[in-house]
Amino acid sequence: MPKQTIEQTDVRSKNVLIRVDFNVPLDNATITDDRRIKAAIPTIRSVIDRGGRAILMSHLGRPSGDGYEPALSLKPVAAKLSELLGTDVQCPGELPVSPEAKAAVESMNDADIVVLENLRFDKREKSGDEAFAQSLADLADIYVNDAFGTCHRTDASMYAVPKAMGTKPTVVGFLVEKEIRYLSSALANPERPFTVILGGAKVSDKLPAIENLLPKADNILIGGAMAYTFLKALGHNVGKSRVEEDKLDDAKRILDLAAESKVDLHLPEDHICSTTFSETAGDIEVFEDQIKDGFMGLDIGPKTQVHYATLIKSSKTVVWNGPMGVFEWAPFKVGTKHVAQACADATKEHGATTIVGGGDSAAAAELFNVAADLSHVSTGGGASLEMLEGKPFKALEVIDNA
Ligand code: AMP
Repeated sequence: MPKQTIEQTDVRSKNVLIRVDFNVPLDNATITDDRRIKAAIPTIRSVIDRGGRAILMSHLGRPSGDGYEPALSLKPVAAKLSELLGTDVQCPGELPVSPEAKAAVESMNDADIVVLENLRFDKREKSGDEAFAQSLADLADIYVNDAFGTCHRTDASMYAVPKAMGTKPTVVGFLVEKEIRYLSSALANPERPFTVILGGAKVSDKLPAIENLLPKADNILIGGAMAYTFLKALGHNVGKSRVEEDKLDDAKRILDLAAESKVDLHLPEDHICSTTFSETAGDIEVFEDQIKDGFMGLDIGPKTQVHYATLIKSSKTVVWNGPMGVFEWAPFKVGTKHVAQACADATKEHGATTIVGGGDSAAAAELFNVAADLSHVSTGGGASLEMLEGKPFKALEVIDNA
């Protein structure tokens, strides 16, 4: 269901409370990567350029919830935002709900920006407390959710605050609108062939997504350590590859489900292996079908790389979540690189819609320099995976529909 967006909302002289994702990496109060701050700017600009008053709120890190912690203060973020926008940005007081914050909001003029302190300095944020939420909602005329990475959670700022807005408008910002458009809408009605690539360390993390996508996808390509639980369930020798023994029955059940449905579920047909889980072990061998005892699979092999790339390039919609191997280490990055490049080629060569989940796959897309060529790289690892699982998000259900 498309959501009401900030663009469609009249904001002039209104207090607009925007839940952003300012959870940036910090080193001694120095921001080491400001991409999340920059990513929030289109929504902030849309409000202030039209004479709205932007009240920004976010969590940062994992404070105890017992009050102000200087190392996790949003004051350096406010300073960075001020620098990026070339305008004054305040971050009053020591708590998100405080007399200082209230006073700062009350004295705002049109186009002013206030950043509330780290929401998690108050433990009522995590517990979803309604009174806390009401205090935040009372500051505003309009609520905006532009924090996709937390959309699968029901923290107060994500769920209780929009609920507490009552009849006042609740809308999504540009970032969340784009995430929904790709992850939810494209999945509901994909152009075919529709190929899903799943990888990563743990099959248990991805089982719900596979089950949800089985009836929807034309191809499911499995890579990463999770492939070895499936291969072992089929009776292959996987050496000492990472296997989740307690998930063998689930893997078998999924393979049976796939065999009964029209989806083609592909497992790696060859593997780049080593005897040690190390970047520099030096004893790398490629095995087909059966992995020799004493070896573990750490990347998909050359035949699988070509096969998967061919399937990806002939698809019209591709969703990718999880690396094909230990892509952080040079000897085992090639499989993930092939997949990343094939996704980019699919979009460049014939306009395929390519969607990459957050977390490791987004990091891999950056590492292999293809992020700009993909249709969409999600900003939320956990949230994008839960969307692939088909789970409803309470934080989005409370937002007004368009
Ligand atoms: P996940 O968080 O489940 O998406 O897993 C990502 C991690 O899985 C990355 O850090 C990879 O290094 C790791 N990984 C991928 N393939 C393998 C493999 N064959 N064996 C061990 N770890 C792997």
